[in-house]
Amino acid sequence: MLDRDACLALDADDPLRAFKNEFVLPEGVVYLVGNSLGALPRRAAERVRRTVEDEWGRQLVGGWNQAGWYDQPLTAGDRLAPLIGAGPGQVVVGNTTTIAAYQALAAAVRLRPGRKVIVSDPRNFPTDHYIAQGLARLLGDYEVRDYAEGRFDDAAVVLLSEVDYRTGARRHVPSVTAQVQEAGALMVWDVCHSVGAMEVDVSQADFAVGCTYKYLNAGPGAPAFLYVNPRHHATAENVLSGWHGHAEPFAFETGYRPAEGVRRFAVSTPHVVSFAALEAALEVWDRVPMAQVRAKSVALTSLFVDLVGDALKLVSPAEPESRGSQVSFHHPDGYPVMRALIDRGVHGDFRAPDVLRFGFAPLYIGYADVHDAATTLLEVLDKELWRDERYARRLAVT
Ligand SMILES: *Cc1c(COP(=O)(O)O)cnc(C)c1O
Repeated sequence: MLDRDACLALDADDPLRAFKNEFVLPEGVVYLVGNSLGALPRRAAERVRRTVEDEWGRQLVGGWNQAGWYDQPLTAGDRLAPLIGAGPGQVVVGNTTTIAAYQALAAAVRLRPGRKVIVSDPRNFPTDHYIAQGLARLLGDYEVRDYAEGRFDDAAVVLLSEVDYRTGARRHVPSVTAQVQEAGALMVWDVCHSVGAMEVDVSQADFAVGCTYKYLNAGPGAPAFLYVNPRHHATAENVLSGWHGHAEPFAFETGYRPAEGVRRFAVSTPHVVSFAALEAALEVWDRVPMAQVRAKSVALTSLFVDLVGDALKLVSPAEPESRGSQVSFHHPDGYPVMRALIDRGVHGDFRAPDVLRFGFAPLYIGYADVHDAATTLLEVLDKELWRDERYARRLAVT
């Protein structure tokens, strides 16, 4: 087992170590929640200030043309595309993951008329599963089937996450995609918990969605992305037929005519200030070797699992290749345990009913951080520090 000095030596040799300086991290905090809200990139604060003061403040409405606001959904999409194995003109950014999932599922259903089944995993992130249920209700005679049934021959579409938000378990995208498509259904991947944590390749999928505020560090409420495979660009329909997906939004025609290419999946006015932070975050990613991110992620999660040992029951797969950049453990009193831990500067989060979740963002988490987090966790457990009644009261966001 590595001691703290050995961890410091690994940090000194880490090829990604310079990236930590790109982020603002509070003193005395080990932040293991980058899988929920990524840390603030230094350049994001400056970029947002520029957008607000220089662009909005001086250019006013001219910013739509002069500062390129109008094209942000596509320019940000092109910049993000390499992170998910996509090419230029295949990704549109805007709205939220939930909305993008709705657009993808509805488009898929329209591309497979006569197939009245939407397959989803009840263990999907709830918003994804709720959206599938809501769409099926709207369509009337559609059903939502559990992915575990393994039957796709009459399904229109299958919606899954590459990495499970609760357990961190990772699915094999190429083989699942091939199996679904061979059955004649379309495949939608949610890559919220894999993008920015590992090499992601959705290029064989029909659609993919994901958020930018987790490992990508674009900030609270940052816009989401939607990948549409080029083979569907001419035929897929955006059911949220807002004006920014129109062929000529500024012709103000009375009838809807979809734009060419992935732009037809734009909906409405982009959130310009949020895009500024996203652009700054993506400037960091332009320089990041993703294979090194994955290698370090595997090393960090493995180290944490080893250090915690049998003090807690592991929920995540024990085999590092089968998990994302997160480690989850069971504890019947998981909520107060996490509150006690946060009180001591180690930030993870809690997922009901009894899961402690720790995310490892390799750009700003090091080996010594992992050692410190594990040491503090073991102390909270050994000394039962979590029994303090302060930690029992639930906060609104866990
Ligand atoms: C975080 C997350 C979301 C969040 O969706 P929002 O629309 O941004 O609230 C959706 N799906 C998955 C798998 C997630 O992890």
